[in-house]
Amino acid sequence: MIPSVLPTYNRAPLEFVKGEGAWLTTADGRRFLDLGSGIAVNALGHAHPALVEALTSQAQNLWHVSNLYQIPQQQALADKLVEHTFADTVFFTNSGTEACELAVKMARKYFYDKGQPEQVEIITFDGSFHGRSSAGIAAAGSEKMVKGFGPLLPGFVHLTFGDLDGVTNAISDSTAAIMIEPVQGEGGIRPVPDAELKALRQICDDNGLLLILDEVQCGVGRTGKLFAHEWAGITPDIMMVAKGIGGGFPLGAVLATEDAASGMTAGTHGSTYGGNPLGCAVGCAVMDHVADPDFLAEVNRKAGLLRQKLEGLVADHPEVFEEVRGSGLMLGLKCAAANIDVVNAGYANELITVPAADNVIRLLPPLTLTDEDIAEAVSRLEKTAAQVETA
Ligand SMILES: *Cc1c(COP(=O)(O)O)cnc(C)c1O
Repeated sequence: MIPSVLPTYNRAPLEFVKGEGAWLTTADGRRFLDLGSGIAVNALGHAHPALVEALTSQAQNLWHVSNLYQIPQQQALADKLVEHTFADTVFFTNSGTEACELAVKMARKYFYDKGQPEQVEIITFDGSFHGRSSAGIAAAGSEKMVKGFGPLLPGFVHLTFGDLDGVTNAISDSTAAIMIEPVQGEGGIRPVPDAELKALRQICDDNGLLLILDEVQCGVGRTGKLFAHEWAGITPDIMMVAKGIGGGFPLGAVLATEDAASGMTAGTHGSTYGGNPLGCAVGCAVMDHVADPDFLAEVNRKAGLLRQKLEGLVADHPEVFEEVRGSGLMLGLKCAAANIDVVNAGYANELITVPAADNVIRLLPPLTLTDEDIAEAVSRLEKTAAQVETA
């Protein structure tokens, strides 16, 4: 008999009832160190007082009104995002996949309005993940995601990750944009080298294409900059944001330059919930923390500390781990053992990590984790590695 919850997930037999900072507690009182953050969502950890305050005080006044009306919380969050990024304008969604939908529509509308309606194709890369909507799975294109789901949304060209020559060769009169995650998340924490991001920006400029960055997982302070592309010193034309921006409240956004967004006039797109007062009140509180240079400096300091210890862990356990990779607090341990065995052994040591493709386990801790949390994380990883070795 089919379970009452559609069985599309492989769930671990863990049930959490409370969270605080980087810690999660189960019903039977076990305390887990959370290096997953609900997959890079709980950027400020669990039950951060500022987020609890933002949510509860907004909840007492007004949860939702339609986008038919003025929403000052939405305006305030858009202003903050515009102030701190390349963007001139923002559309709010409830998720990353909806941000992907709009990014695709926006790019196509841009060329349509320029009188170049044949420019509809978007170049993407293997190992990428852009969400589970029809556009999202067509964009990523992996068999695992698309098989069985019928005709795909046309207009995506899939290239090998890192193949810059392939990009140049793939550009035609139909090309509209290049879409890429600056650091692949689901694909196994694969950072795009700064030089490559710069080259992609240049290719877009030379060919009049739009650069769409998917920072759903790597954005919002995760890599130690507010957005990951800042490390490369480039800016996109369109950027997808979600996960961390809501700190646990379902919130996403598409950020764009005035030029790239020029086709999206009244009536061309919408969302019932996107940008509602409750979500945006929380988003504002998240931004007030992560956009603070002192906060980001701390992320970088802690990331350096954690990474250094992880290098030691990998050196000590070559049968379990091959390498550390990633950026800031978006780290991956490429495993020599089966990654799922390492994740499960971690659970036995009250440690949460997240599997990814390419036999990687992801460490995406709350950006607020403390030095003591880092020491505890490494000690639990040591214990986990030792158990996997002898298993
Ligand atoms: C999670 C993710 C998405 C999809 O976001 P949802 O909120 O799950 O729809 C898109 N792109 C990237 C890079 C992601 O990590």
